[in-house]
Amino acid sequence: MNSIAAVLGEVAEDLARVLAERVRADLIPGLSDDQLMAVLRAAGEGQRRLDAIVLETVAELEARSAGLRDERLTTRQGCRNTNELLQRVLGVDARDGARIVTGSAAVRRHTDTTSGAPLPARWPALRDALLDGRIGLGGMLAATGPVERAGARISDIDRLRADAELAAHACGEVSDDPDAADDLPGDHASRRGPAATPEDLGILSRVIVTYLDPDGAEPARRRAMRERAVTLGKTRDGLVPLRGALLPEVAGQLQRLFDAYLSPHVDGPPPPGVHFAPSDGELDADEFDTEWEGLVPLDTRTRAQKQHDALAAMLGIAARHDEAPTLGGAAPTLVVSVTAADLVSGSRWAHVDGIDEPVPVSVANHTACAGGVQRVLFDEHGRIVGISTSGRIFTAHQRRAITLRDRECVIPGCHVPATWCEIHHVREHARGGPTHTDNGVALCWFHHHTIDTSEWDIRVVDGLPEIRGPAWWDRERRWRRPRAVSRALAPPGR
Ligand SMILES: [Zn+2]
Repeated sequence: MNSIAAVLGEVAEDLARVLAERVRADLIPGLSDDQLMAVLRAAGEGQRRLDAIVLETVAELEARSAGLRDERLTTRQGCRNTNELLQRVLGVDARDGARIVTGSAAVRRHTDTTSGAPLPARWPALRDALLDGRIGLGGMLAATGPVERAGARISDIDRLRADAELAAHACGEVSDDPDAADDLPGDHASRRGPAATPEDLGILSRVIVTYLDPDGAEPARRRAMRERAVTLGKTRDGLVPLRGALLPEVAGQLQRLFDAYLSPHVDGPPPPGVHFAPSDGELDADEFDTEWEGLVPLDTRTRAQKQHDALAAMLGIAARHDEAPTLGGAAPTLVVSVTAADLVSGSRWAHVDGIDEPVPVSVANHTACAGGVQRVLFDEHGRIVGISTSGRIFTAHQRRAITLRDRECVIPGCHVPATWCEIHHVREHARGGPTHTDNGVALCWFHHHTIDTSEWDIRVVDGLPEIRGPAWWDRERRWRRPRAVSRALAPPGR
């Protein structure tokens, strides 16, 4: 009989009884302060011991999951790795799963290959503290983390000395003697104080590392090189978190690109919060410059939102760049899949390859006319019924011509240069709009992706784009030619 599991099962039943008969019956609000603290202390005792059981079990599980893929315990349980198994069995998230796996490495005992006997744990004294219920997972990670991160620069002997010192503090065996590490294990029981919190253990561990590795103050650059990172997190609330740490020169380059995108001209968009009211009076159709006077719509985006849009534009440029690295011989293509019915109805969801959260179908529409994106249409049974072809993507030559004509995003007041823009099908490709320069205009990422929901109308007359703005912007709602296009057409000397 599996007695450990049986005993734990009884504990779980006891806990269930406490919950059902005491907690549910609202006994907690009636407790005195002392009783409340006693409950918390007892819960901590139980929790740390459960941590110990989990870590020891996971250490063994890791040992049984180290061999060939098919022979691993995790594989036999149908899981990719220990973390996934922990998520399923313990109900923890990936982050806590990773913490448990890391903590288990501290207590894991490898087997002596000749005798078959278990060797001491990597952190034997802290393991004892764990098994005594003095520290839990948090304490174990806080104590071992800084030393482990120092890696090979701390010898095995020094690690064991640190282990003894940290365990003593974890058990409240405080010493005021700074040389205590040298006479461990000393007579600590006589100097018992309050147990160190994980926070304290982390600080002490970092102090120990600075003693053991005094010139380990690795040159900052090398550390920076090691810690540089960019990661995409899991989708939450329709957004994918972007995290990381950039080397200064990379950050500087990115900042310059943001700046270039956000203030392309010295007389660029107005600063946020300044509203330019539409001008009154008759407008001379030939006086293009004065026609636009005062008609600059308010850009309500925050700086952070604009930087997001700038990044989106950069990715578009990179994806269609000739020198962009290829995937399987083709330019890196983002696959957006959607069912044909959903695409027509415009409702429901599309899927972007590599991102687990679905996106609105409108995203599939917009991305379809940008290069570097392929749209795959499915029927309701999941059969592929259509793949977007290059026919709906403006060629490099068409793009260059449109860029020359429009010079910047055609929405008034938006001075994002056309080279940074996406080319928008004025009449949708799906509704028969041709992929022709007469049907394409430059729109920045933001205006392209909001054109359907905004009140801007675009048409092309005699090969030149014209814009009609919302009534709050232009009471007459006249079709107007974008200023940059007009300027380009104006005779020299104007
Ligand atoms: Zn724009």
